[in-house]
Amino acid sequence: MPNLFRALPSVDACLSALEHADPALIAATPRPLLRELANRFLDARRDDIRQGRLTDPERLGMDALLPQLAAFAERESGPRFRRVLNATGVVIHTNMGRSVLADEAVDAVLKACRGYSNLELNLATGERGSRYSHVEDLLCKLTGAEAALVVNNNAAAVLISMDALCSGGEVVVARGQLVEIGGSFRIPDVMERSGAALREVGCTNRVHPQDYENAINERTAALMRVHTSNYRIVGFHTDVPVEELAEIAHRHGLPLIEDLGSGSFLDFSGSGLPGEPTVRSVVAAGADVVTFSGDKVLGGPQAGIIVGTKAVIDTIKRNPLNRALRIDKMTLAALEATLRLYLDERLARKRIPTVAMITATPDELKRRASRLASRLRKACGDRAVIRLVPGESRVGGGSFPENALPTTLVRVEPAACAPERLKQRLLDTTPPLIGRLEDHAFLLDPRTLADAELPDAARAVASALHQTI
Ligand SMILES: *Cc1c(COP(=O)(O)O)cnc(C)c1O
Repeated sequence: MPNLFRALPSVDACLSALEHADPALIAATPRPLLRELANRFLDARRDDIRQGRLTDPERLGMDALLPQLAAFAERESGPRFRRVLNATGVVIHTNMGRSVLADEAVDAVLKACRGYSNLELNLATGERGSRYSHVEDLLCKLTGAEAALVVNNNAAAVLISMDALCSGGEVVVARGQLVEIGGSFRIPDVMERSGAALREVGCTNRVHPQDYENAINERTAALMRVHTSNYRIVGFHTDVPVEELAEIAHRHGLPLIEDLGSGSFLDFSGSGLPGEPTVRSVVAAGADVVTFSGDKVLGGPQAGIIVGTKAVIDTIKRNPLNRALRIDKMTLAALEATLRLYLDERLARKRIPTVAMITATPDELKRRASRLASRLRKACGDRAVIRLVPGESRVGGGSFPENALPTTLVRVEPAACAPERLKQRLLDTTPPLIGRLEDHAFLLDPRTLADAELPDAARAVASALHQTI
């Protein structure tokens, strides 16, 4: 066995063999990282020898090991955070980065970070300006609110609103709205962090105006409504509408805070989805503070948008948490570009990928599915049976939880392996492809694949099928 260890090449020999085999990889990878990879590769081979998996000295030389080493270096040297193909049909997929940005937003990000900017510079006076001024007017125009503020995400928006308006006081909220959003974001926990005490009213399925009235006392700081984004109470159920709750709040001199969750500027009822309230309608109904995510149905970057009345928003702006939760220049650039598209609804529907994916028509999806299927047939040959089947997509991100969107799925039934194995293999292709398993097959939903991604998707599936044989 000691002889076998000695048959392995040195780290330097590995590096120079790699340099020969793949000069581009060597040029693009920091030298210390390559050295570490060569060491890890050789350690794994030493382990193979110890475990009796490598016994033939012929297989331990540089020539024999190079293909395996090159593949290992290629796989391990790239960035960990990378592009994946989303073939799940879940449009707002938190694990895959939620919204894909519009080209306009991507261009704006590039411009914002390639050079200096007027991030906090007022070009009219040459004095210090506010980073929010760039989007505040747009947000007011699009929602009808008097003032606006943007922070890191919607969880932060809820936190700072509560901290600024309710700390040390009580917030009245319906029991059925004390939700956990996922990723352990629980509304009651955030409220407690802000130093506000929660005053739960009503029952899980019903709450009445009188419940709020009865709960209001001298310690009450605000009334709050939380959009039950990711679940629905169906059946025997009542809720107090925003208008009515705003009226109660204002009669007692209190603000009404509404956490809208997704928060849309558009009405999606034309796409077979229920008419969710738009941000504008909630502002018009009298909510003093409305918070929502930038990267859910809105289709922009991660952000927590807060709109409302000037007096209340000013109080939130002065809160010290504002500095801790502020957005960076890249987010600001992407958000402004996305909001500008909303100034023209037709443009928003066409140019913002999240909106376009949600509103894609069944015909459009069927055509894209056909194109993907013929590419797959060509690339996979007889290694799989490819068919089109009707199916359903989801909006995701806790939005429209009950509503499925009709789509056409591409069904891949591998000839020589289980579909589970194909799914597993696809996690390791370049780029990785994420799809669904259903009905003894692997399924791709064209709703969340861009036209430009179809060739990559077909290549990934073909290469994964190839490896499984
Ligand atoms: C998604 C959601 C949040 C959290 O928003 P993030 O932008 O992910 O921080 C808060 N409240 C509701 C109702 C939500 O749906």
